[in-house]
Order: sequence, then structure tokens, then C-alpha cells
Amino acid sequence: MYIILALLIAVAVILILQPWKRRGCRWREDRRALVDGRVLHRCAACGAELALPKGRQPTTCLAGQDDQ
Ligand SMILES: [Zn+2]
Repeated sequence: MYIILALLIAVAVILILQPWKRRGCRWREDRRALVDGRVLHRCAACGAELALPKGRQPTTCLAGQDDQ
């Protein structure tokens, strides 16, 4: 019984801390360009979305701003 409880706590801690968000963003360009000419970038790590002008790459992780 205590093992199940410990597992639940471990899962909760992992979900709260979300350590995968601290590794920085892995931005991927969405091939579908937006209407106004910007390109949508989606982070594979945290799911953040950012629309930037063509040719620009996002450099910061929207979820990891507390790291800096
Ligand atoms: Zn991210």
C-alpha cells in the first residue's frame, strides 16, 4: 500500500516540477505559414507556440523563463 502511495507522490512531483521543461525549447517550424506572413514555431519540449517573421528563429523557451 505504501508503495502505491509513494508512486503517486513521485508522479505528482514529476508533474509539478516538469523537469523536461528545463532543458530548453526544441523549436520546430510549422510549415503552414500564417496569414500575415509569419511562421509558427512550436516547441516540442513544452508545447509553446510562437509566431515570428520568416527567417527568424525563437531563442528562448517560454516555459523556462524562471531559469534565467
Ligand atoms: Zn519550450
